[in-house]
Amino acid sequence: MADPIRLTFLGGLGEIGRNCACIEQDGRIMLLDCGLMFPDAEMPGVDLVLPDFTYLRENADRIEACIITHGHEDHAGGLSFLLRDLSFPIYGSALTLGLARNRIDEAGLLKRTELIEVADGERRRIGPFDCEFIPVTHSVPHGFATVFHTPQGVIMHSGDFKLDLTPVDGRITDLSRIGALGHDPGVRLLLSDSTNAEEPGHTRSESSVGKVLRELFREAEGKRIITACFASHIHRIQQIADAALANGRTIATLGRSMAKNVALARQMGLLHIPDDRLVDIEKVDSLDPAKVCVISTGSQGEPMSALALMAAGENKWLKVGEGDVVILSAHAIPGNEYTVNKVIDGLFRLGAEVVHSGVAAVHVTGHAMQEELKTLLSLAKPQHFIPVHGEFRHLNRHARLAMEMGVKQFDVLLAEDGDVVELSDKGIEFVDTVPSGYLYVDGIVGDVGHGVLRDRRVLADEGVIVVVVAVDVNSGEVLTGPEIITRGWVHAPEAEDLLGEARQKVVEALEKAADEGKTDFETLKRLVRQALGKFVSERTKRRPMIVPVVMEA
Ligand SMILES: [Zn+2]
Ligand SMILES: [Zn+2]
Repeated sequence: MADPIRLTFLGGLGEIGRNCACIEQDGRIMLLDCGLMFPDAEMPGVDLVLPDFTYLRENADRIEACIITHGHEDHAGGLSFLLRDLSFPIYGSALTLGLARNRIDEAGLLKRTELIEVADGERRRIGPFDCEFIPVTHSVPHGFATVFHTPQGVIMHSGDFKLDLTPVDGRITDLSRIGALGHDPGVRLLLSDSTNAEEPGHTRSESSVGKVLRELFREAEGKRIITACFASHIHRIQQIADAALANGRTIATLGRSMAKNVALARQMGLLHIPDDRLVDIEKVDSLDPAKVCVISTGSQGEPMSALALMAAGENKWLKVGEGDVVILSAHAIPGNEYTVNKVIDGLFRLGAEVVHSGVAAVHVTGHAMQEELKTLLSLAKPQHFIPVHGEFRHLNRHARLAMEMGVKQFDVLLAEDGDVVELSDKGIEFVDTVPSGYLYVDGIVGDVGHGVLRDRRVLADEGVIVVVVAVDVNSGEVLTGPEIITRGWVHAPEAEDLLGEARQKVVEALEKAADEGKTDFETLKRLVRQALGKFVSERTKRRPMIVPVVMEA
């Protein structure tokens, strides 16, 4: 009888983002990724969303280390927050650690961790964990699938992956090793990326984007070219650079993270741009536009990003206009479509020609589609399967794929954030749950709770009414007011009658309270809120926030 292995999912199962899981063996915890999620329109004023770290805080002394599978923010971006409270070493590929290091350093937390590089194919013991790092292809270089050789058998976590047979750097997913593990000793449990589980077929190779880019660069002869992509997508940056160099252009980067990542990748020998073909963005204006290529951040339409400012005509370094070709070499991630469309529209309005993934094949996904997911399942031949990394619909579809591939229905677990799963001699089962709600981070205020967010949504959707009234502390008689101040509900100067009626309702409510001998201020506030809320709802069918201020005269 071997001891069971526990898996606890803190994020990423039910949403794209904030990936974070724990694997527990011999009482020790290995953290597998610690990511963040970007907010959607339902989260006004929120900068980012983190996993709930309660479980990790409560078990801080048992945390052995964290493995980051690759350098994307949805896998590494939470570390600069978690390290405020906890301290542990972090393992990953050199590039993954390089990308993560920037953020941790900016947060001033480097001294709370040790960054330990692991190499492709390496197998090493970390505490009680016997780990192996298998190269996979993805939209950031040097990602890993992670294998845990445990007393309960091999647990394989795919990481974010696709099966690109012609990747830009020639580093392909090590399918032979995965196949070997599936054969001997066999894979007991597979956890695999579900992002594109609904997409039939096979992803296109990253190198196919290079061909399209070279063609577009040829067509744009004589014009200035501005491109945008993810700053961590080093292979895309390389392909843009290659097209630019072949076209006789000089390259400038725009945006802080682009400049940092290009410098890091060049220093590590992962990105090849000759020194004399890289120029400072400040010098671009003095060059022949036909001989320039700018590589910018902001492919997701982020409001303050270089590209969004360009589209608004407010970028300090670049004025976009007639004669410019803008290539958006990315796809809007769900939730960002609106802002991306606005940026595209703004660029067109300025006279630029915009090429995006809707009109040319300037982007490919980094996540495996159905045929690739099936290939992984057929090679690993797992006994048990848990789909990870996706919204519930993606997890669900991936679970069905696994069953189609021969994993028995009761061996597939559809786990969600907060679930604790145990792998034992008996099999796999749910054993517990832990807190897993969203932790909202507002850059200035700090952590904001559900209450604050609910208030912000009400204010945004319905507006606010403040009612100020002074009453006699003994009799409850209204002495001054009520005065009504409103924002975002009705335009006050044109609604004098309505506001008059509203004041009357407040007076009536307070008079009734006085008659009944109710003079406690909290009670009066509640009664005012109720009476006014009812009136506003009946008359205007709105539910603005009502803030009663009851004062002692
Ligand atoms: Zn991811
Ligand atoms: Zn990723």
